[in-house]
Amino acid sequence: QTSAIPSYSIASIPADGIGPEVINAGIAALQALADTLETFKLDFTHYDWSSETYKKTGRYIPDGGLEQLKKHDAILFGAVGAPDVPDHISLWGLRLAICQPLQQYANVRPTKVFRGTQSPLRNCATGDLDWVIIRENSEGEYAGQGGRSHQGRPWEIGTETAIFSRHGIERIMRFAFETAQQRPRKLLTVVTKSNAQRNGMVLWDEVAKAVSQEFPDVTVDKMLVDAMTTRMVLKPETLDTIVATNLHADILSDLAAALAGSIGIAPTSNLDPTRENPSMFEPIHGSAFDITGMGIANPVGTFWTAVEMLNWLGEKDAAVKLLDCVENVCEQGVLTRDLGGKATTKEVTEAVVAEIQKLK
Ligand code: ATP
Ligand code: MG
Repeated sequence: QTSAIPSYSIASIPADGIGPEVINAGIAALQALADTLETFKLDFTHYDWSSETYKKTGRYIPDGGLEQLKKHDAILFGAVGAPDVPDHISLWGLRLAICQPLQQYANVRPTKVFRGTQSPLRNCATGDLDWVIIRENSEGEYAGQGGRSHQGRPWEIGTETAIFSRHGIERIMRFAFETAQQRPRKLLTVVTKSNAQRNGMVLWDEVAKAVSQEFPDVTVDKMLVDAMTTRMVLKPETLDTIVATNLHADILSDLAAALAGSIGIAPTSNLDPTRENPSMFEPIHGSAFDITGMGIANPVGTFWTAVEMLNWLGEKDAAVKLLDCVENVCEQGVLTRDLGGKATTKEVTEAVVAEIQKLK
């Protein structure tokens, strides 16, 4: 007899540094949630692709690996990067090697100040900072286009060409407008640098304007990326949904995470909005080798990642409940060192699991 509740197949790729520590914590919370609510099931398959694999075999993803990934409903990713592998090799070898072929063109980064945590900004109360940054995730400045010539010579040059296609901009803009439309304030800030970059960025502005015609109920404002950084710091309450290029949003979202209290709490979703391929969910932080193995990594970023994954899978009620449990634990003062507390990864995880079990 099988029950009628939905079951989701999740690929887990913990990878490097604190990745395995936070992914273990995330899976413990998800499993506890599924066991307690009994409204859905999760089935995890673990992939040990990492910089260790790369050092042994020369590659991160084995033959047929992507095909295997495509069979899952979602991918839960830890962090990639090791001190003895150049960052551009690890990033392109694993993370981008999944995002690009799986057409995960929308990178979504929510940030907010949790109950019980504090922003480093003076006078920034809970609720003042509640943003979603949408990052173009398939082209732009990280398209991998360019080259090196005259290698090793004093006149050597390296070019890094940013690629902006009308198709690529249109699909990310439409996704951003839809996201803004679903949020209470219906406010979208389009970030640009079209005063200095007069080709791709001007196309970006033109397409944003054209797509905005389809969403008359969304208020749009346009900000230059440099001015945007000051607005985020000085007037956080004036922002809601933000759309920016691959590079700009990469930088702005790290700033956003720090303004919300720590890089250890925010999640990232790499979405294929067409749902043809599975989407990938990961905490915003990196492999953090400086604290690897110490048992003090903040698992909250992975818990919030799990919330975003449940939302995408359609388990909205479970997602709201999990986020609430995590905020309750923050409010109880069970915080890791990056948030000014003394708790270990294990203690925070146990507190969240205990909070989940109260849902029964
Ligand atoms: P990458 O190159 O993969 O982005 P990185 O070392 O440049 O890695 P992070 O790994 O994000 O960047 O770490 C930046 C800083 O934030 C480090 O000091 C790290 O210890 C801290 N940090 C990152 N994630 C966490 C976390 N989950 N809990 C506590 N501290 C964290
Ligand atoms: Mg980093």
